[in-house]
Amino acid sequence: MDLKDHIRDIPDFPKPGILFRDITPLLANPTAMQYSIDVFAERVAEYRPDYIVGIESRGFMFGVPLAYKLGVGFAPVRKPGKLPAAVHSASYALEYGNDTLELHQDAFPADSRVLIVDDLIATGGTAAATAELIEKTGCTVAGFGFLIELAGLEGRAKLPAAPVTVLLQY
Ligand code: AMP
Repeated sequence: MDLKDHIRDIPDFPKPGILFRDITPLLANPTAMQYSIDVFAERVAEYRPDYIVGIESRGFMFGVPLAYKLGVGFAPVRKPGKLPAAVHSASYALEYGNDTLELHQDAFPADSRVLIVDDLIATGGTAAATAELIEKTGCTVAGFGFLIELAGLEGRAKLPAAPVTVLLQY
């Protein structure tokens, strides 16, 4: 199956000049959704994660079914002020200004192996900040999994050394 058939390109969203890769057609098609989760799970199983973190909010849509398939726990990485208990925070640079992500301090036992999942890697800033959060919990980044990589932006170069799986590239 060519998963690109189920990704919709929306020009100039959320702002002029951005070509938004919309995953909602893939999620709406049961065959494409099951296939993408099955292939994703096969590829990341070898990283032997104890937990998966999904990055708000499209990372949740892939992270939870992957955790279910691999039989491991899940924790959300969220925008500031959303998580109710004590958090670790990590900030990263955007084109204009900064953004911050948070993770519960007690999300996993120390020394766990954690797989980071998001729908898409662009510049890599979001995933790199998430890796920083995992390190603050005293855990190890077991790997990264993305449905889509915008390869021209070289986001992988920002990530700490750990294996990366992507299902499709633009
Ligand atoms: P980055 O930190 O630059 O790697 O951006 C990754 C985050 O922004 C992910 O959570 C994506 O969902 C979102 N994102 C960035 N660029 C796009 C794009 N062209 N289409 C869809 N989502 C994007």
